[in-house]
Amino acid sequence: MNTNKELNLLNQKIVYDFTRFTTTDYVGEISCIVWHISCNLRCSYCYNDNIVFAKQGLYTHNDILEFLNKRKSLLTAVVLSGGEATIHNLVYFCEKIKKLGFKIKLDTNGINFKSIKELISKNLIDFIAIDFKAPKYKFKLITKKDDYEKMLKTIKYLLKIDFPFEIRTTVNRDILDENDINEIINTIYCLGYNNIYYIQDFLQTKSNIGNITQNMVLNRSLIDDSKLTINYRN
Ligand code: SF4
Repeated sequence: MNTNKELNLLNQKIVYDFTRFTTTDYVGEISCIVWHISCNLRCSYCYNDNIVFAKQGLYTHNDILEFLNKRKSLLTAVVLSGGEATIHNLVYFCEKIKKLGFKIKLDTNGINFKSIKELISKNLIDFIAIDFKAPKYKFKLITKKDDYEKMLKTIKYLLKIDFPFEIRTTVNRDILDENDINEIINTIYCLGYNNIYYIQDFLQTKSNIGNITQNMVLNRSLIDDSKLTINYRN
């Protein structure tokens, strides 16, 4: 039986849209991706500005649960993405997804430690992908928020409890150069991270939040691959 609070949360139109089928986002799983509106950062290279600034989405969590109910034999996992999914209360939604038998992956910028910890402690998340936006000295420049330490706190916590997760960075070479990437590699390596480090290409659209372009290309030969396995994603 749902409480009023649960019903209210599950009926908010906070899902901008959802991708019905993907085999690439959560490795080894057949997933759908739920794109939540709004975000607690304002990254200059963000191309999801329509999602970040949306006041309302097209769907509710209940709509997604209805969809999942019909896809039990076709999908194995749900990816919670955005915007930043953790600024919404995800507990009831995740509980219901779990009851349907799906795995859950969370895509996050990592700064909402409290929410991430709660979801993990309730066994509602199976895998996390954290966007490591920039080294400390460039974090505010790129995200417009001074939340580097909050992101680091989450990474330290995931390492401490040995939670399965990956770290990735989106690179616009005009604002993040090879030295910055090597600084990130060194930081996460020293913290004890030993999974693959993913480097993703900046995607230029007509509406990147910072209205930025990219004129230079990352020189991969200058990236330190002696500490971690580096994987480049387009
Ligand atoms: S790129 Fe930055 S602003 Fe855009 S959704 Fe991700 S965290 Fe939010």
